[in-house]
Amino acid sequence: MSTHSVEKKTHIDINALSLLKRFFGYDAFRPRQLDIIRSICSGKDCVVLMPTGGGKSICYQIPALMQSGMAVVISPLIALMNDQVQALQANGIPAAALHSNQSDAQNANVIDAIRHGNIKLLYISPERLLIDMEHWPENTNISLFAIDEAHCISQWGHDFRPEYTQLHKIKERFPSVPVIALTATADKLTRTDIATQLRLKSPDIYISSFDRPNISLTVKQNPGKALKIQAICRLIERYPDDSGIVYCISRKATEEMALELSIKGHKVAVYHAGLSPAKRDEAQRAFIQGDVQVICATIAFGMGIDKSNIRYVVHNNLPRNIEGYYQEIGRAGRDGLPAEALMFYSIADVITLRSFADESGQQSINLEKLERMREFAEAAVCRRRILLSYFSEPCNSDCGNCDVCLQPPLRIDGTIITQKALSAIARTQEKIGISMLIDILRGSNKSDLISRGYDKIKTYAAGRDLSAVEWRAYISQMLQLGLIEIAYDQNNHLTITNQGRKVLSGQSNVTLAKFLFDNKPTPKQKKAPSTKANADASLVSRLKALRKDIAKIQGIAPYMVFSDKTLQEIAIHQPTDKSTFAEIYGVGEYKTERYWEHFTRLIRLWKQNNIQGL
Ligand code: ADP
Ligand code: ZN
Repeated sequence: MSTHSVEKKTHIDINALSLLKRFFGYDAFRPRQLDIIRSICSGKDCVVLMPTGGGKSICYQIPALMQSGMAVVISPLIALMNDQVQALQANGIPAAALHSNQSDAQNANVIDAIRHGNIKLLYISPERLLIDMEHWPENTNISLFAIDEAHCISQWGHDFRPEYTQLHKIKERFPSVPVIALTATADKLTRTDIATQLRLKSPDIYISSFDRPNISLTVKQNPGKALKIQAICRLIERYPDDSGIVYCISRKATEEMALELSIKGHKVAVYHAGLSPAKRDEAQRAFIQGDVQVICATIAFGMGIDKSNIRYVVHNNLPRNIEGYYQEIGRAGRDGLPAEALMFYSIADVITLRSFADESGQQSINLEKLERMREFAEAAVCRRRILLSYFSEPCNSDCGNCDVCLQPPLRIDGTIITQKALSAIARTQEKIGISMLIDILRGSNKSDLISRGYDKIKTYAAGRDLSAVEWRAYISQMLQLGLIEIAYDQNNHLTITNQGRKVLSGQSNVTLAKFLFDNKPTPKQKKAPSTKANADASLVSRLKALRKDIAKIQGIAPYMVFSDKTLQEIAIHQPTDKSTFAEIYGVGEYKTERYWEHFTRLIRLWKQNNIQGL
């Protein structure tokens, strides 16, 4: 029995691997993928938790190809369905979708193809499935059900969808067909809820690491608008052929940011819930096609964006919670190549977000979550460790790819700086907020300050040697160190704590991290483990242009032709004939046939020109 099952497994493994190469052009499975495939092929239900970009789709797409019949994939987003179907078709896999955004004629065509057994993967919305399922003949050959974004079933999750709660009917109607539930949401309540609600039969549960080591993490104290825009522009310019997202706190802020960036000559689109559906679709299309470099968006943007070559995600302000932050930065670097997450943080953000949380239905939870977010932003230890521990994932070493690891803060004696600030707070009877404090320290002559007589106090202009931005950074540290507090219930005035009083009276000293703001690229950018050699940038750029032309002609997104990583590999190996082209990462049989001539011709031309140019 045991030898038999070992042999069977080996057979499954070989078969799975050859399909992976043939249809997707990949040489190896990622951690957990093969285990999941084995479970499904042996008829087990599974719950799969993997971060965005982890490679969930392959886990059910390969079993769908291995088995007879049709796999049914339930997905909450029509845009996502069409993307996936197109991407599968681009690999030569017969896939189709059934949903309300298609014409009746289109849907009838799909149903006809299903009847003839011509579809291997069917994408369908939950409400449509529940209606259609009733009409399927008893002998319908279904290999598996995959439930994407499975956290939508849980009321505990952040994206509850009532139609998902009916999905337990699948098990009632098809008790012997395996169901695989997939999500990138990590929290424990949601995990158990998924299995219970779907009535899964002692499912195999697979939890992958949530680490995304290729995304570098940087948090900067907001250096003021001009420097901030400059930093974002540097980031955009570092990836001239690629794209990124800038998340802003409000609709208005997205528009202002877009204006700033377009003044600087960048191609920008705006996305927020206040735009008409047509405008939103247009922005999304332009972004996916690579017609714009940057999308300035509220958090309404991103769910269902399957673009693998997003190189950076900027948070213009502190996000509301770590879950949201992690999901948003997770949209970068899904292809595994290096990507950057840059966040700007200020105390003013905390004040704004606190008021949002106060007004929300779940005040105490939201305030607590905001507090954890703030701690992350202000941390002086490896940021990835904080994130992973937040998701209950053990981690015992520093990551080497966050700003704290790469540029450990420089410590200075901050006693005098702190005493100046504390003294100004004390001399104004703790009746001022951060902006007024900075104005006093810098000796501003704003009318509000003068009329209140603050220009007469001893500390007025005592901090002229530091810029307002530096003061903001140091005051923020004084808050972190517990020397002062913000009285949120009293107009956000600053108050001095007992610990602060000791500093003021000279009984204890303060060490601060020196404020440094350079807009130079982060040094020692860690390369993703997979990049072996450096690809020639000019060749990559030409390959991208070719990819874009092909995508336009075929009416699909450029990343569906080839991922950035595949283009990098083409640039490194420079294949000039069909067989070497077929060996490249991400090039399956179907794409070899379709594209080898175009790409190898470009390589040959490029080589000739390069030699001539020598
Ligand atoms: P998820 O749904 O988990 O967010 P996807 O299934 O979209 O992630 O996969 C993310 C990217 O990783 C895709 O470009 C996919 O083709 C790629 N990928 C998945 N599995 C592998 C693998 N075994 N080897 C190489 N690339 C892979
Ligand atoms: Zn780190």
